[in-house]
Amino acid sequence: MTAVSKHVVVIGGGVTGAATAYDLSLRGFRVTLLERGSIGAGTSGRTHGLLHSGCRYVADTEVARECYLENQTLRRIAPFLFEKNGGLFVAITEDDLAYKDFFLKKCGEAGIPVEEVEPAAALKMEPNLNPKLKAAVLVPDGTFDPLKVILSFLASAKRCGAVVKPYNEVVGFRVEGGEVRAVRVLDKVSLREYELEADFFVNATGAWANKVASLAGLHVPVKPSPGVMVALDGRIGNRVFNRLNKPGDGDIIIHQRGTSVIGTTSWIVEDPDGVSIPKEHVELMIKRGSEIAPVVSRMRVKAVYVSSRPLVGQAAQTGREVSRSFAIIDHSREGVGNMLSIIGGKFVTARLMAEKMGDAVCERLGVSVPSRTAELPLAPYWLYFS
Ligand SMILES: Cc1cc2nc3c(=O)[nH]c(=O)nc-3n(C[C@H](O)[C@H](O)[C@H](O)COP(=O)(O)OP(=O)(O)OC[C@H]3O[C@@H](n4cnc5c(N)ncnc54)[C@H](O)[C@@H]3O)c2cc1C
Repeated sequence: MTAVSKHVVVIGGGVTGAATAYDLSLRGFRVTLLERGSIGAGTSGRTHGLLHSGCRYVADTEVARECYLENQTLRRIAPFLFEKNGGLFVAITEDDLAYKDFFLKKCGEAGIPVEEVEPAAALKMEPNLNPKLKAAVLVPDGTFDPLKVILSFLASAKRCGAVVKPYNEVVGFRVEGGEVRAVRVLDKVSLREYELEADFFVNATGAWANKVASLAGLHVPVKPSPGVMVALDGRIGNRVFNRLNKPGDGDIIIHQRGTSVIGTTSWIVEDPDGVSIPKEHVELMIKRGSEIAPVVSRMRVKAVYVSSRPLVGQAAQTGREVSRSFAIIDHSREGVGNMLSIIGGKFVTARLMAEKMGDAVCERLGVSVPSRTAELPLAPYWLYFS
């Protein structure tokens, strides 16, 4: 069976859908991507923009290693997309310091190269850090502009023949004989509805994955987990500032472009649409951010925003306990054989998620073409518009 005879519809124009459209079109499938809003309108357009080194997730060695390896792959295939500014994990209190040995041991287990530096050396590198800092570890973090990364995946997909349709919302499914035959789509520009038939359907709608799947009578165990971010008017450093502790609220400051972004909080909602920003979360970000870099309390806040992680999980309480890894949901168990959903992961692992999704689609459609997205350079983002 050749891929070229098969049409796959990818639903969702975030980084997961974009990377999946690229993976599948590079393997030779005919691909159409549908996005209800603008490209990156969901969670992907509203992240910190941190190219994780994996160090934030060292408690889970596999997740940490996965992050680090993808960090390296993305730098290789698209060096023009990332600021290779590195990161520092800093201990401000005795409690932070107590976490250091565990942190260094776990980084070693995950194969992440890190280097402890003297507090005085860290302060010389980043003068806005808290002068009381007790320990500092250099890590291979980086930063990026999320939209440019998504557009690069889509430009690469379009180069392989994919059709990308923003402002085209999936509003229904035609399911017959145990298969999805077509999606019903609302074109939000012409305000007309149409049907799009395909051989296979990929639901990459992140925090909305269950809402979309339910239109076909299916279920996706996604836990939308919002987080608030506070962007300061100005850049207070270069290396990413991470608090040397178990991931928590307000323990990270990412400098990218002309701003520094403090993140984040984490809770669980039923519906990712219309999440409002609790005032106390903003206050907490500024308070905790000031502990890392006292200058934060004197900075003007430029913007405050929120988006929802598409976490995988059933019984989460706050979102911090839910796995940061990803899952492909097989809907054949519910009687629909030609649709898969993908949830979880992180922006930095989207290429890997897409590769696994590509493998799963190939298996279902009896096609044998390997993924090549880890080897080939990504197209520049500006080619999306050509
Ligand atoms: C506060 C916060 C900070 C984060 N920071 C980082 C970070 O710094 N680094 C990192 O690696 N990860 C980060 N993450 C995680 C990362 O952002 C997400 O895991 C990732 O962006 C999810 O991408 P996605 O494509 O799966 O979902 P989304 O980007 O949400 O894409 C899903 C898309 O589906 C669309 N859609 C929904 N319904 C329909 C429909 N009916 N029809 C058509 N389209 C539809 C939506 O509009 C949306 O664009 C962060 C997450 C949060 C919440």
